Amino acid sequence: MRFDAIKAAQNRKVHKVKTAETPIPELYGSNVFSDEVMKNILSKEAYKSVNSSIKEGKSINREMASHVAAGLKRWALDKGATHYTHWFQPLTGSTAEKHDSFYDPDNGKAIEKFSAENLVQQEPDASSLPNGGLRNTFEARGYTAWDPSSPAFIYENTSGKTLCIPTVFVSYNGEALDYKAPLLKSINFVDKAATAVCKYFDTKITSCKASLGIEQEYFLVDEALFNARPDLMLCGRTLIGHAPAKGQQMDDHYFGSIPDRVFNYMYDFELEAIKLGIPLKTRHNEVAPGQYECAPMFEDVNLAIDHNLLLMDLMDEVARKHGFRVLFHEKPFAGINGSGKHNNWSLITNTGINLLSPGKDPDSNLLFLTIFINTIKAVKDNADIIRASIASASNDHRLGANEAPPAIISVFVGSTLTKVLKAFEQDKKSGTDGKERSINIDKIPEILADNTDRNRTSPFAFTGNKFELRAVGSTSNSAQPMTVLNSAVANQLLEFKDKVDARIKKGTSKKQAIVAELKVALKASKNILFEGNNYSDDWAKEAEKRGLSNIKNTPESLKAYVSAQAMKTFVNHGIFTKEELHARLEIMFEEYVKKIQIEGRVLADLVYTYVLPSAITYLSTLASNVKVLNDVNLKAGKAQHELIKSISDYIDDAKKQTDKMIESRKKANKMADSQKMAVAYHHNVKESFDNIRRNVDKLEQLVNDKLWQLPKYRELLFIK
Ligand code: ADP
Ligand code: MG
Repeated sequence: MRFDAIKAAQNRKVHKVKTAETPIPELYGSNVFSDEVMKNILSKEAYKSVNSSIKEGKSINREMASHVAAGLKRWALDKGATHYTHWFQPLTGSTAEKHDSFYDPDNGKAIEKFSAENLVQQEPDASSLPNGGLRNTFEARGYTAWDPSSPAFIYENTSGKTLCIPTVFVSYNGEALDYKAPLLKSINFVDKAATAVCKYFDTKITSCKASLGIEQEYFLVDEALFNARPDLMLCGRTLIGHAPAKGQQMDDHYFGSIPDRVFNYMYDFELEAIKLGIPLKTRHNEVAPGQYECAPMFEDVNLAIDHNLLLMDLMDEVARKHGFRVLFHEKPFAGINGSGKHNNWSLITNTGINLLSPGKDPDSNLLFLTIFINTIKAVKDNADIIRASIASASNDHRLGANEAPPAIISVFVGSTLTKVLKAFEQDKKSGTDGKERSINIDKIPEILADNTDRNRTSPFAFTGNKFELRAVGSTSNSAQPMTVLNSAVANQLLEFKDKVDARIKKGTSKKQAIVAELKVALKASKNILFEGNNYSDDWAKEAEKRGLSNIKNTPESLKAYVSAQAMKTFVNHGIFTKEELHARLEIMFEEYVKKIQIEGRVLADLVYTYVLPSAITYLSTLASNVKVLNDVNLKAGKAQHELIKSISDYIDDAKKQTDKMIESRKKANKMADSQKMAVAYHHNVKESFDNIRRNVDKLEQLVNDKLWQLPKYRELLFIK
């Protein structure tokens, strides 16, 4: 299989993409039920209703929904769609859809049917999707409900088009069963809180939208080679494989020229993305061989996340046309970089001001500092929940693996803002009057002009006009960390406002009250600020001294979801109920267990049916050779004896370790409590993977190449 796969990969022709006949501006969003389309198709009244729902969160009444449904139906049918689906994000990590035809049989004919009911709410049953105990099987109802803030779109498959309506997914009692529902609540929450604080500065500010730009990293592997690796097929990562002689040490892949086959693939999915209104902007090679990145322009958080999920679906589908498989796993290959999903986040007002962009005068700078410092404080207080929001079995491989931020959450602000914060703070210490304070604040824009320093090792870095959460895993749904970040910042801003108001009430001027409270917040957040190398061992030691958490694995980190801080950040403000948090925790423990369980099974399978047979075949060749040489009185040399001994030892240990892992798995499976089971899977099952792998990878190095069945790293990474 390996040699056939290599041949197939080497002979694969570049799949040429027909250049878009339609100019890009016309193509852009052509499959989206966009604002412009709605303006043209809907009645004035219906358009206004949808618009105020999108902009102000007002609900749409039944009559208006009927109008929208009629317009949407006409548009979709004209575009050639035959089916429609509510498109949602269950807690499986992927998107879900259940297609219904637009046509109903009627007296031997087919008639088109799509009403307000079909648009607004559906009951997809979907009782097999994870719910963490929120749905009893006898009352297993789950409902999808229309999210007007993310426009409907048409998804094109090779032979058919489907109208997709973005929806939330909730239980009969209204509990969230998905990622989108809490995300929407958090967006609303941060909007309200930030707007309330902005009113100190500018009463024209009536809303604040959280914005997000998601950089997506991925690997490409030839389809034939992929299919010859059961671990890639079933786990999305290689469980074994010796490091190639050449990996990423030459740094010759990063930003290098893009191979033709890969370029055609990128161009192809970009064209598809453009039709769906996904504003892709950047493409380049990443650090590891076979690794790439793409990034769109930032959008409202909700839309950016929908677009990211849609993009991943598209990339997967288009890859198959090109004889590729796209790997979104955080660590498909040991020894070289893994993939992340950098989440660039900021807050933008209805007046068009980016609140994380320093302004031009003292007042707007104070507004900037207010949002900036409160964000840092929010991250400080919610560090463990942020860590939990990026936790997964697959991201565990990446965090702290000297290529991605460590599991310690800290904030990088850059040398300029470090100076600014210091000056801002010292003001109080030295007891100087308002004059110097305003000078410090005045200085920000000037100095910022050369604020170019970046810290690629920081999990949460300020990059001039936004914060970048760099620790998010490449497979994950960004709604998780963004729900946490929005809620944490909102919660902090509300607390801040209460304290400022209290000072004002006591007679302090508004500005003085704000400055005073910012200093308190800054002082309380100082130990989370770190400008150095987050990959270094010194930082781990220093962080420990500072009392920062360094939670290295998923089962341990997830507990933060039900911590006292989580109650404060989420439950008090209705983002999650306590029950929802516990249900989520349950689901995440289960997911963790299942992932490691599958990996354990695949690994044992590979050892027994691929690795050991190859090694034993080679071993017997060596042994019979020695025997033949002895028979003709040529004493077999030392080298062959040594080889036989090594191979034989590695075979023994590989088998022994594999059996041990299987035993640990059986023991772990017996645990009744899902958290304990997850912990056991982490400590006893997953930790033993490395012991198995060490032996297997040694065998790969020693066994005759012709006998090795699984495509090797050099082939997976370098054949394009
Ligand atoms: P890099 O971080 O690699 O330098 P860019 O500066 O191009 O990359 O930005 C990366 C992402 O950040 C892009 O998706 C971009 O649209 C997004 N971005 C830029 N400004 C903002 C903002 N104000 N809010 C959210 N995302 C932003
Ligand atoms: Mg970036």
